[in-house]
Amino acid sequence: MKISHIEHLGIAVESIENALPYYENVLGLKCYNIETVEDQKVKTAFLRCGETKIELLEPTSPDSTIAKFIEKRGMGVHHVAFAVEDGVANALAQAEEAGVRLIDKAPRKGAENLNIAFLHPKSTMGVLTELCEK
Ligand code: ZN
Repeated sequence: MKISHIEHLGIAVESIENALPYYENVLGLKCYNIETVEDQKVKTAFLRCGETKIELLEPTSPDSTIAKFIEKRGMGVHHVAFAVEDGVANALAQAEEAGVRLIDKAPRKGAENLNIAFLHPKSTMGVLTELCEK
């Protein structure tokens, strides 16, 4: 696969409202979009940091995977998302061929209408890995 850059870092927070003052007032980043992804039971806030974004993830329900993540490991970095230039479907096929466990067998729509797919952290040295493309 061909990765151009880190598209975003996903960071699990208990509350976007409480997290934003740190990112905006201390780090000086700007939040340009907040949206809820219903089927993921998550509210997301995006801040730009050069070519990379910070994606704050707030659970909207106690059975959200983000809620479970925070319960188990506390707030913090949840996943790393790489921008792939030659297609998520192609990248998934290559990862599978290399023996990497896939969470998504096929690309799906994520926040910001990107095509996304996740690789299992058991196969990626503990880092939940997202592949995405515009
Ligand atoms: Zn993400």
